[in-house]
Amino acid sequence: MFDLQKTEICSFRGGIHPPYNKELTNAVPVREAKEPAVVTIPMSLHIGAPCKPVVKKGDTVLMGQMVGEATGFVSSPVHASVSGTVKAVEERPHPNGNNVLSVVIESDGKDTVDPSIKPYEDFTSYSSKEIIDIIKNAGIVGMGGATFPTHVKLTVSPDKHVDTVILNGAECEPYLTADDHLMQDSPERVVKGLQIAMRALNVQKGVIAIETNKPEAIQAVSKAAEGLQGIEVQKLATKYPQGAEKQLITAVTGREVPAGGLPADAGVVVMNVGTANQVALTFETGMPLISRYVTCTGDAVKSPCTMKVKVGTPYQEVIDQCGGFSQPAAKVISGGPMMGVAMQRTDVPVMKGTSGILCLSKEAAYIPQPSACIRCGRCASVCPIHLQPFLISAFAQKKRWDRCEEFHALDCIECGSCSYICPAKRTIVSSIRVGKRQVQAERKKRAVKNNG
Ligand code: SF4
Ligand code: SF4
Repeated sequence: MFDLQKTEICSFRGGIHPPYNKELTNAVPVREAKEPAVVTIPMSLHIGAPCKPVVKKGDTVLMGQMVGEATGFVSSPVHASVSGTVKAVEERPHPNGNNVLSVVIESDGKDTVDPSIKPYEDFTSYSSKEIIDIIKNAGIVGMGGATFPTHVKLTVSPDKHVDTVILNGAECEPYLTADDHLMQDSPERVVKGLQIAMRALNVQKGVIAIETNKPEAIQAVSKAAEGLQGIEVQKLATKYPQGAEKQLITAVTGREVPAGGLPADAGVVVMNVGTANQVALTFETGMPLISRYVTCTGDAVKSPCTMKVKVGTPYQEVIDQCGGFSQPAAKVISGGPMMGVAMQRTDVPVMKGTSGILCLSKEAAYIPQPSACIRCGRCASVCPIHLQPFLISAFAQKKRWDRCEEFHALDCIECGSCSYICPAKRTIVSSIRVGKRQVQAERKKRAVKNNG
C-alpha cells in the first residue's frame, strides 16, 4: 500500500450513518454514454443570473462553442456539448421543475470541435487573473451539485486571507459514486486542478479530503500527489454529511466558519474534486465544461453504473442506457437520497451539477406516516450545526417565523439528518425549509420598511 501523507482520520460532531448502497455501482467500470441525438442546454446551468442565448434556430454549432453568454458577474456561459443544428431556442422543462429558456441542438453525430478551442500552455505561465478568466470563459461551476460559478469562488475579496484550498472528495451522499470513480480514473488531473486553483489564489497549501469508504480513490490520489509541495491527502470518517462545506472545513482545519459567513472567513476555499478535474481538463484541451460523470442507480434501474454523459442529455436516455427501469420507479431523484430533488419527469436535461439519477421502487421510496414528537432529542444530537431541529420545525408549523429566526433556522444546511434519525418519522427538514424561506421573506420586508 502507498503511504498516505496524513494518517489520522478527521470528522465533525453529529451526523448519521445511513445505508450507503454504493456497492451497486462502485465496482462497475465507468461507461461513456452514447452520443445523444438531441441535447437541451438550459440558460440556467448554474446559480446566478441566467445566460442570454447567442445562437438562433437554424444555426450550425460546433462542440464547445458558446451558445449562451453570461449576464453578470455571478453567472457562467454555457456551451454546445455536441456539434449540429439549433432546432429551437425556447422554454423547456428544467430539473428545477420550471420551464427555462434553452437552446435545443440536434447532433450531427460528428462532435466537430470549435476550432477556436486550443489547449493552454503550462498553467504556471498564467497569472491569477488569467487563470480565473480561463475558468470563467469555460463555464466551470461547482460540480458537486451547488453549481456556484468557480471564477466567483476564486475571486476572494482583498479583506479575506485565504491560505488553504480543500478539494472535497467526501461524496458522503448514499448511492453516488461519480466522484469516487473520477478520482480513480483521473487522479493526476484532480491534483493538477488543485494546483491551478492554488496558483489562482496564491495559496501554498492544498488538501484533498476523501472519506475512508473510498480506499482505491485515496490510494490513486495519494500516488498522484506524491512529492508535490504543499499538497496533502486527508482521510475523512465515513459519515453523513461529511462533505457539507462547513463540516469539511472544521474536520480538515479545525477552524469554524462563522454563522452566516463564507469559507473564506475561515481562510479556506473549497472545491469539488469534479470541478478541479474540469479545471485541469480545460487547461489540457481548451474544452469548456460540456460533460460530467453521473451515477445512475437505485433498485428500480436494471444495470446501475456511473457514466460519462454530455450536458443536455435527457435523464431518460441515461436511464435507458442502464437497461431502463427494472420495475416501476416510484421516485426519481436528481442527486442523492438525502439532499437530492425529486423529479416530476425524466425528459429534463443532465446539468453541470447532476451527480446522480436515483431511481427508487415503491418499497425503497416508502416513507412511514409521521407520529407525534416524543422529545427524544435524537434530531438535536445528530444535527451537524448543533441546532434544535424539533423546536424550529414546531415553530415553523405554528408559523412563528420570529422564533424560527431566534433558533437559527437560517443556519440549517438542509442535510436531512434530523428527519432520517427521527423515530417518529417527522418531516422535520421540510418544515424547517419552509421556516427558512419565511424568515428570509420577513427579513426582506423589514429591510424595505427600514429603507423606505
Ligand atoms: S427526533 Fe423526532 S421525536 Fe425525537 S425530538 Fe426530534 S422530532 Fe421529536
Ligand atoms: S436542522 Fe438542518 S442542519 Fe440540522 S440536521 Fe436538520 S437538516 Fe441538518
